[in-house]
Amino acid sequence: AVLNRIKDVDEKVRAYVTVTEEEALKRAAELDEEFKTMESNSPLKGIPAAVKDNMCTRGIKTTCSSKILYNFLPPYNATVVEKLDESGFILLGKTNMDEFAMGSSTENSAFFVTANPWDLQAVPGGSSGGSAAAVAADEAVFALGSDTGGSIRLPAAFCGVVGLKPTYGYVSRYGLIAYASSLDQIGPITKDVTDCALVMNAIFGHDPKDSTSAKVEVPDFTGFLKNDVRGLKIGVPKEYFGEGIHEGVKKAVWDAIELLKDLGAELDEVSMPHTDYGLATYYIIAPAEASSNLARYDGIQYGYRAENFQDLIDLYKKTRSEGFGPEVKRRIMLGTYALSSGYYDAYYLKAQKVRTLVKQDFDRAFEKFDVLISPTSPTPAFKIGAKTDDPLTMYLTDVCTIPINLAGVPAISIPCGFSEGLPVGLQIIGKPFDEGTLIRVAYTFE
Ligand code: GLN
Repeated sequence: AVLNRIKDVDEKVRAYVTVTEEEALKRAAELDEEFKTMESNSPLKGIPAAVKDNMCTRGIKTTCSSKILYNFLPPYNATVVEKLDESGFILLGKTNMDEFAMGSSTENSAFFVTANPWDLQAVPGGSSGGSAAAVAADEAVFALGSDTGGSIRLPAAFCGVVGLKPTYGYVSRYGLIAYASSLDQIGPITKDVTDCALVMNAIFGHDPKDSTSAKVEVPDFTGFLKNDVRGLKIGVPKEYFGEGIHEGVKKAVWDAIELLKDLGAELDEVSMPHTDYGLATYYIIAPAEASSNLARYDGIQYGYRAENFQDLIDLYKKTRSEGFGPEVKRRIMLGTYALSSGYYDAYYLKAQKVRTLVKQDFDRAFEKFDVLISPTSPTPAFKIGAKTDDPLTMYLTDVCTIPINLAGVPAISIPCGFSEGLPVGLQIIGKPFDEGTLIRVAYTFE
């Protein structure tokens, strides 16, 4: 049924870069056999899902929506894919994204633009736009995305679905093609909070193959699916409701906050004074790490290679000039500049210090509150093309999500109403490794 749905609507939505129809049907047939004989089955068994095209899938093209990896066939699976395999999911295919996850609208894909299923003229958000659009358009039951500065939560908000960015280190990054390693996390994009908890159960946990993976117990997240927020202390950070936040978005988010109050949560305003510096800090740190991570694409071992070259240096230059898109090149240049000797102290080191200040805002807030609540994005989905000429305006889309990655804390985006006919996302931010409480609060709205 899901494959038929893809055939019916993906021509318009364009969520998938690759659909693995044959493999999916084969796997489904195998699982049908298992269902007959196995006594207990994992809740994800036989569930068809999509994976963002920056997570390695053995023998299945993994392109990062970039020309430079257009033909890359990974020889191994990312740990999350391996884990989902163990739980019996069916891979439907790989979803479109901003090239190397750099972007907020999926317009930076080297291949094509994905549309928002609610309005085909609007963007689905990014960079995991293909994953969110696939779930919203019923082209997958759930999907995986990755989030460096908002790339799971923003598209989830724009497409009216649920998206969770886990605590840094809670989900293995092994096999996730790196963008900014100190910020990247993989997480679920689902139709509802119950599904989110089920996917979390499958993908969370320590992985010796990822040196930044945390050794923390994974609870059964379905245990937090309770309609009970009585006595929970909820902070509303005032800096997240300032200038630039649409009235319709504010209203939808405040309605949700009022509902939590009616249900017995205790609310109070909180100040996070370094919020304003989040974006600038991120746009030093993320490009710096990206410039280093993307140095490996040289046309030698895998991916695209330029055809006419004079010598090795010329091969590198031509391959990278032809293989990377404009936004990726912009980030590599910014990052290389910020890391270069003479500028390192002024930019990268300074940004790391400000990052600590941003994190301390969260530490302080969590001394008093169990969760914090904000909009996921200042506006609902914008029209395709509306911000492509102005990277700075595009960067502003992530003001509400970026500080969370800098601090390494978890956050979930859930739908909380509509503005101008398009979905609005509510962001619930939690203490490190306290995703359970996020699920508990989010479930109130289910
Ligand atoms: N939009 C932000 C960027 O372009 C965040 C992307 C992400 O989370 N991968 O870097």
